[in-house]
Amino acid sequence: MITDKRTTALQSDKKVLKQNVETRKNMQKVTLGKTGLVVSKNGFGALPIQRIEKKEAVYLLQKAFYHGMNYFDTARWYTDSEEKLGAAFAYTREKIIISTKTGAVDAKGFWTDLETSLSNLRTDYIDIYQFHNPAACPKPGDESGLYEAMLKAKQQGKIRHIGITNHRLAVARNAVESGLYDTLQFPFSYLASEADLELEEACKKANMGFIAMKALSGGLLTDSAAAYAYLAQFDNVAPIWGIQRESELDEFLSYQETPPVLSEEIAAKIEKDKEQLCGDFCRGCGYCMPCPAGIEINNCARMSLLLRRAPKEAYLTEEWQEKMKKIENCLHCGKCMGKCPYGLHTPDLLEKNYEDYKTFL
Ligand code: SF4
Ligand code: SF4
Repeated sequence: MITDKRTTALQSDKKVLKQNVETRKNMQKVTLGKTGLVVSKNGFGALPIQRIEKKEAVYLLQKAFYHGMNYFDTARWYTDSEEKLGAAFAYTREKIIISTKTGAVDAKGFWTDLETSLSNLRTDYIDIYQFHNPAACPKPGDESGLYEAMLKAKQQGKIRHIGITNHRLAVARNAVESGLYDTLQFPFSYLASEADLELEEACKKANMGFIAMKALSGGLLTDSAAAYAYLAQFDNVAPIWGIQRESELDEFLSYQETPPVLSEEIAAKIEKDKEQLCGDFCRGCGYCMPCPAGIEINNCARMSLLLRRAPKEAYLTEEWQEKMKKIENCLHCGKCMGKCPYGLHTPDLLEKNYEDYKTFL
């Protein structure tokens, strides 16, 4: 619950920040390619707010806005995240930039999603409407009718720009090459491979906005200052940070005033993480779920890393032991592998993580 003290603090923030225009002027900004939209280098990823109470979420979102964040990314799939954004910004809509996403596979689903999003967000337009991680890049004439629906929605003024999100390099490349999209949202962190860097460069050349998700690699990277400093090098990249707690928000807000720089110390930290996190590892995206055996794949398949990169006690509780034990019930149906955008052999990875886990008990 939000306490009266915190509500008062927010009110006082509003007064102070309305006067403190200079703070906003100094803030690092990114132009999202041909959209011309100028967003703060600190975007708010609104997936995690689905896990907190509405009042708490509204408080966080408004605090972010009053401290200079102007870009908020959500999705139809993030349960009530859109509704919380709508509640926070119904009266300041024109001052912020909102992107949301549809996972529809046909035009009928597209229109249902779009109308639901507009209603949830309490708005009559969406700044960037994105196809949410489609298996193939939607194009005119591909028979899904999705891209045609996007164009019609744009003509109707319900959306302003057309975007796509993806975890698969091949689909992302295809989207850039197609020239059909204004923005691409793609995982991008200091673990970026050469191919990821080429994709970012290709976006820049194509004048497409590049929105970086998973800059903390689904929680495996724990040094947000290093992540921020790395991404600050790319003048066309707009990172969105998944924020659930006020402490996380405060951390990213503090970087606006005192941006972390790529010092020797931070560069060494990045190199060390790269050595530890190379090759095939689970990013925790959860696209492989649900699992018919009830395995929480997005955490169980990266348990070895979580145990070594976060306080391990949190993962050794009875509850976690039960979750890990479910790996014994894997049906080897292969459903997860077919959906993993990183091409991981998920059942093998689960098995390896389980064997390692048992050595900690
Ligand atoms: S192979 Fe195992 S982990 Fe993957 S979906 Fe099937 S039961 Fe779940
Ligand atoms: S196994 Fe693949 S799809 Fe599943 S959570 Fe890990 S990276 Fe994501």
